Amino acid sequence: MRSDTRFTIFAAAFGVALLALGFVWLVEGAVSSPGVAVALGAGLAAIAAFVTASALAVRYRNRAQAIVDIGRRYALGDLSRPGPDYGDDDLGMAARALDGAVHEQERRITSLARDRARMQAILGSMVEGVLVVDEGGRLQLVNEAARLMLRIESDAVGRPYVEALRHPGVVEHVGRLLTGGAPQAFEFSTTRDASRELVARLAPVAGTGRGVVVVLHDVTDLKRADQIRRDFVANVSHELRTPLTAIRGYAEALVDDSDDPEARRRFLEIIQRHATRMERLVKDLLRLAMLDAGKEALETAPADIGALVQGIVEDMSAAAAAKHLRVTTAAGPDTRGVVVDAAKVHDIVRNLVENAINYTQPGGDVAIVAAAEGAMLVITVSDNGPGIPPEDVSRVFERFYRVDKSRGRPGGTGLGLAIVKHLADLHGGAVTVENRALGGAAFTVRLPVAPRPALT
Ligand code: ADP
Repeated sequence: MRSDTRFTIFAAAFGVALLALGFVWLVEGAVSSPGVAVALGAGLAAIAAFVTASALAVRYRNRAQAIVDIGRRYALGDLSRPGPDYGDDDLGMAARALDGAVHEQERRITSLARDRARMQAILGSMVEGVLVVDEGGRLQLVNEAARLMLRIESDAVGRPYVEALRHPGVVEHVGRLLTGGAPQAFEFSTTRDASRELVARLAPVAGTGRGVVVVLHDVTDLKRADQIRRDFVANVSHELRTPLTAIRGYAEALVDDSDDPEARRRFLEIIQRHATRMERLVKDLLRLAMLDAGKEALETAPADIGALVQGIVEDMSAAAAAKHLRVTTAAGPDTRGVVVDAAKVHDIVRNLVENAINYTQPGGDVAIVAAAEGAMLVITVSDNGPGIPPEDVSRVFERFYRVDKSRGRPGGTGLGLAIVKHLADLHGGAVTVENRALGGAAFTVRLPVAPRPALT
């Protein structure tokens, strides 16, 4: 039974008991007349009712005050402590219902705040820029990427998009969509950095059909990759066309002028040279394609780098002698038995030595030095040729890049250094080039080597 009902029944019973007491006094003759008995009983009942009502009022006031205090605490956002025992009368039930509603709201707010924080974290970690303009034309949301791409100020949220988004193209497209235009996408470059190319996709905010969401993609790298691919195809076509044109021209000359044996021999030699060049080009292209596709595996075994370098120098001795070049080699004792992929190291060094011999003027010097430095095998191929102009140093490892088109060696494919770089990368190493103080280029390859097997 509820406490206020209990209290009312108790008070009524108490009043009836006092009236009954007046009646008993009347019967026992303690009072002289029924009127006095009733008056006495009613008086006592009235006093008891007053005392009871006062006690109830004080109790109600205290509880109401406690409920007001809790309400104030909740209003300040402190819902850490649960409400007290409100009691089971009407006041208690009303307070409990309100308390429950407040806690339910708090649960919803916490859940919304969690969702919002999660959304902010997702938007913040996106590489794409996202911004939302509401139907009133104010910037409602902008993530970090969009802020950086369009140089949007940190306090721009809430401001009219015309002010907040500084790019005229973006402003124009947002305006068009806000006034009922169709979803669209367009390309543009930022005012801050014209070399960066962006694509903006605009659409109405899903569900509501009002407001605009803009997603920005940075397509600079994609475009660059596409350009590299196009240049590559153009380069390959050009490199193949040159020897092909020569082969066809000399073949036609052979057909037309087949009487002079000396001319025939010369034409055939030229045809042979160009065919060899085409063969080298196709071979290098296929090798690059294999390396690109990760189809060349590393096969490591202990190798003698001194002997490997010596073998290359012997192979190239005729070319070096033809230009009267001095070729010197030095290999530290630690380079014997290093664990590398010897075939790939051979290709790296051969390419570099071939270049050094080709680009150094007659009578010049070429030096190959190999040393083990800690866990690295370091091989330097240097010459005293023309060196690499500083502006080209970062580009010589690109496919078909030649410092001076007219200086490109006749048998070269323009792919040698690109292959060298790929092979060094495959080893987990690197190749670099620098110009020597006394003139000439120095190419250095650093390759990590596996621990040498214990000698038995
Ligand atoms: P190529 O077949 O033309 O030699 P590479 O990829 O081997 O192609 O070299 C790229 C370019 O780097 C060359 O065309 C040349 O301009 C430059 N180069 C390479 N090695 C040297 C060197 N030792 N000295 C001067 N320039 C060099």
